[in-house]
Amino acid sequence: TARTTQPAAASRIKVSFEFFPPKNGDMESQLWESITRLAPFEPEFVSVTYGAGGSTKMPTLNTVSRISAETTLSPAAHLTCVGSPREVVDGVAREFRSVGVKHFVALRGDPPEGVGSAYRPHEGGYANAAELVAGLRGIDDFEISVAAYPEKHPESSDFATDIDMLKRKIDAGATRAITQFFFDNDTYERYVERVRRAGIYVPIVPGILPIHNFGQVARFAALCGTSMPDWLARRFDGLEKDPETRALVAVAMAAEQVTDLVERGVDDFHFYTMNRAQLVYAICHLLGLRGNGGTTSSGDKPGSVGAAA
Ligand code: FAD
Repeated sequence: TARTTQPAAASRIKVSFEFFPPKNGDMESQLWESITRLAPFEPEFVSVTYGAGGSTKMPTLNTVSRISAETTLSPAAHLTCVGSPREVVDGVAREFRSVGVKHFVALRGDPPEGVGSAYRPHEGGYANAAELVAGLRGIDDFEISVAAYPEKHPESSDFATDIDMLKRKIDAGATRAITQFFFDNDTYERYVERVRRAGIYVPIVPGILPIHNFGQVARFAALCGTSMPDWLARRFDGLEKDPETRALVAVAMAAEQVTDLVERGVDDFHFYTMNRAQLVYAICHLLGLRGNGGTTSSGDKPGSVGAAA
């Protein structure tokens, strides 16, 4: 059967791409190749993460600054509350603004000791992302996105607590939530239902992580509370020494996930690119987007494979 990557659906699909700031010249080249390759999909925004543990702002600042100066893309800067008093965080936000940033992904962040250790706000610092959203709102009329957790945040005792925190962030002025990555679309759908029942109506944009490296993703998932279904591991089993097939499997799986989400009515996707364009490029193409800035023409029907010509 024809799937929802038909042209009509493709024209409604919106995407955004997440990158991390490079640590050296080679990584910088890789990042810019990826940005250049993905830019023609005309993302709503491209976001740049903030150093874990509240580490230095400079790599993020330099990256968003260059995106702002050298491209027509809208940069969004991630910003965390970790390890700094409010005035310092506010100062960083103003610096981002001065290089052209109008959109923040506002986060609490994790303690410098790492995910899982107890979070203690800096004395005089923002205690959580909701306070940071309110602080940013006080500085300017920024667009603000926040994080959401379809499998709940590991620190949340239950879904009610978790969704209450999301509600606080939205009430403080955030207009979009981007989810932690997940692999089970039923989990996402149940979460969105819970969120709507709690009176939250902003887009809950699924964060899609193509599996570039199964071992790395599994380790990260364990830390952040994302479940890794058994069928997922089985699909990568035996491909440890076969990067080419791994990439094909990763694209096939992520394409399966996003096309199923489209069928469930989702039309907005955030991709964790890991600064690599190839898999995300292929997935966007399968979603019906075209890297020449357009969407599928009527003569080209991706996803209609198997349908009568
Ligand atoms: P909050 O929304 O403030 O809280 C998260 C959850 O923790 C809440 O749901 C709440 O239930 C629970 N909680 C918080 N405080 C308490 C408490 N005192 N008692 C009980 N429960 C509590 N990290 C980075 O360092 N840099 C980044 O660039 C970055 N980007 C991210 C982008 C996305 C889309 C996502 C999903 C995560 C990102 N993170 C990043 C990770 C994020 O910082 C962590 O997940 C962090 O642990 C929580 O941040 P938050 O903004 O969700 O926090």
